[in-house]
Amino acid sequence: MTYHNYSDIIIDISHENLDKTYQYAIPDEFLSLAVIGAPVIVPFGMGNRTINGYIVGLSNEPKISIEKIKPISSVIEGAPVIESHLIYLAYWIKETFGGTINDALKTVMPVKKAVRIKEQRMIVLIKPVDELRQIYEEQIKKNSKARVRIIEALLNKNILDYDKALQILNIGKPVITWLIENHIIKIESKQIYRNPIDSQSSPQTRVKLNDEQESIVDNVIRDYNEGKLHTYLIHGITGSGKTEVYMDIIAEVISKGKQVIVLIPEIALTYQTVNRFLERFGERISILNSRMSDGERYDQSLRAKKGEIDIMIGPRSALFTPFKDLGLIIVDEEHEGSYKSETTPKYHAVEVAVKRAELTGAFVILGSATPSLESYSKSITGDYKLYTLTKRAKEANPPKVWIVDLKEELRQKNRTIFSRKLKELIEEKLNRREQIMLFINRRGYSGFVSCRSCGHVMRCSHCDISLTSHVNGKLLCHYCGYEERMPSNCPSCGSKYIAAFGTGTQKVEEIVRREFPNARVLRMDTDTTKKKGGHQRILSAFANHKADILIGTQMIVKGHDFPLVSLVGIIAADLSLYAGDFRASERTFQLLSQAAGRAGRDAIPGEVVIQTYHPEHYSIITAAQGDYQEFYEQEMLYRRLMQYPPVAHILVVLVTAKEEDKSDRAVAFAAEALKEYININELSSQVIGPAPAGLAKAKDIYRRLVYIKDEKYDVLVGIKNYLEGYFSYSGRFVGCNLQFDFNPMSTY
Ligand code: ADP
Ligand code: ZN
Ligand code: ZN
Repeated sequence: MTYHNYSDIIIDISHENLDKTYQYAIPDEFLSLAVIGAPVIVPFGMGNRTINGYIVGLSNEPKISIEKIKPISSVIEGAPVIESHLIYLAYWIKETFGGTINDALKTVMPVKKAVRIKEQRMIVLIKPVDELRQIYEEQIKKNSKARVRIIEALLNKNILDYDKALQILNIGKPVITWLIENHIIKIESKQIYRNPIDSQSSPQTRVKLNDEQESIVDNVIRDYNEGKLHTYLIHGITGSGKTEVYMDIIAEVISKGKQVIVLIPEIALTYQTVNRFLERFGERISILNSRMSDGERYDQSLRAKKGEIDIMIGPRSALFTPFKDLGLIIVDEEHEGSYKSETTPKYHAVEVAVKRAELTGAFVILGSATPSLESYSKSITGDYKLYTLTKRAKEANPPKVWIVDLKEELRQKNRTIFSRKLKELIEEKLNRREQIMLFINRRGYSGFVSCRSCGHVMRCSHCDISLTSHVNGKLLCHYCGYEERMPSNCPSCGSKYIAAFGTGTQKVEEIVRREFPNARVLRMDTDTTKKKGGHQRILSAFANHKADILIGTQMIVKGHDFPLVSLVGIIAADLSLYAGDFRASERTFQLLSQAAGRAGRDAIPGEVVIQTYHPEHYSIITAAQGDYQEFYEQEMLYRRLMQYPPVAHILVVLVTAKEEDKSDRAVAFAAEALKEYININELSSQVIGPAPAGLAKAKDIYRRLVYIKDEKYDVLVGIKNYLEGYFSYSGRFVGCNLQFDFNPMSTY
């Protein structure tokens, strides 16, 4: 073990002036204690008042003249280890993804805010259970969904946590008032019930795992008991029983006194999912979501720190729950783009999960029906251990999938948005009183241009990425800045049906209402779900067969079980195929697979119609066949050819400024500087650009880009560090902002 003489210290983050670290000498007596992440007390400022800080770096080189470096007063021994891990993690995040240490600390630490200690209230059942049953039946007949939900919960368990019940059961105050007025419940303060009687909860009907599930659980638990900490990837189609597998493994881990973090994409964090965990694990669970206030979040993380809970479920930010003895991190739907932070530091939750597990002696399980290429390739090289679930857990046959060529429809003079096949099937299902979902693929849509007659797509000859149309009538490549004029005839077949693409949900709804006037239609998109609970309201209306057709964007394809849905129509599968970034095919495959997974979840056999101008495209064919392996092989060919991730890594350097010429000049300087750096260091990195971002101007800020590709991630980190230094010391970037993004998930 080698010790260092100097430490970089970040001063406690409740203070403001922290965008920098301060160097302190490490007295001999503290050499062995002074590790990264260790909390310290240091003299600070002119008066040398003592202040808390954390060590975030170590070195043997003084950065300023030695006389000016003060010594650390003390390293705090026995301070909570968890904090150090998170500090270290913050430091690692900053190094690996860019941004300041302060940005990184803000990411890992819950917002410190004085929160009112709320009195904890409980809902206590006071009506005899048989009377409650009667009320329950009445409310079902009256179709009072919210009342039914809470009565159901009360039948299971006679005491409920007030806040949690309101939140999880999604019920409002009026329902509570009604319950009180009808002498069904009373509200009591928690103190009276120090021991909420958990054992009273109804016996759960636990499913019996099938052989595939059981073998995964056995293997993972065996590894764990032998002290082997792997990262596992569970590749299992939707409904194959991944969640059941997670829950059995979680039970084992918490039985050892350890804690578990379960990451679920916000959009899939539904009542049903959370409820399954609650039913299994009871009160020692907490949930984070984006609708919570800072105070509420802080509360939850405090509970975790105090050891009041064992399991934290939530989106990306739940990753930083300050558990004392973390045993396992699960990342469900690990391929989801939302696991990548959109603000600096632009970290990826999967990578951070693996790092945090490594730091704390925990292990990681990633799960997906359509694993990201990054994760799947790691499971092939052996970095991750791969397990596969091949069957749907409940008896259900895979849906029948039709691929419809929209070019052929045009040839047959069908200019509507519905192919003849889709129209025929919609009518058939409506007649049988079954349900239909129509999916409009808008994700990543940014105006690619294609020919309706032959399907030709305008692409950049330098990047093999689709060009996007801009208002000035030009076609632009987001990667290299190449531009050309919008052609008036298709360069491939000469037809005049060449245009930018786009169909909105609203427009589809209009057409559906016109074509099928007797159908009851619901639409779910950002417009109709703006109001609180809008999401849930639409979904439960559809689940209760209040509508025949549900129209929506990717929101509707996530994890919901609708047993009556026997047809899923994908209006234009191509929209995400030409989104103008290298992940377009992968995203298309994921969306189509998920959408197809919505049909025929139960007894009724399902059918799926995929409408496309590119019936021959591998991401469409493989999604229709449910063949992930084949998709992976094909897509890796492309990634290899073009040196895109996971084969190589990409660093996006985004320069922004209020004045256009400033942004142009700054990005040109940055590109020059890094080309020089690459030359001097004899690196083989490729520089692409500079170019205007696809979104070249946002909120009056001009956005310019350079891309750098290299097979080695570390080389890109070096380039980032170099540019960061150059940026802060050179006078050429005044008034500009610099951001980094490694292996981007979205277009710029
Ligand atoms: P996934 O997480 O892979 O989508 P789930 O764990 O949600 O799959 O399982 C889908 C459905 O199948 C759930 O209703 C679940 O209760 C049920 N299920 C899972 N495993 C089994 C099993 N072994 N036997 C019966 N039903 C099961
Ligand atoms: Zn290009
Ligand atoms: Zn054409």
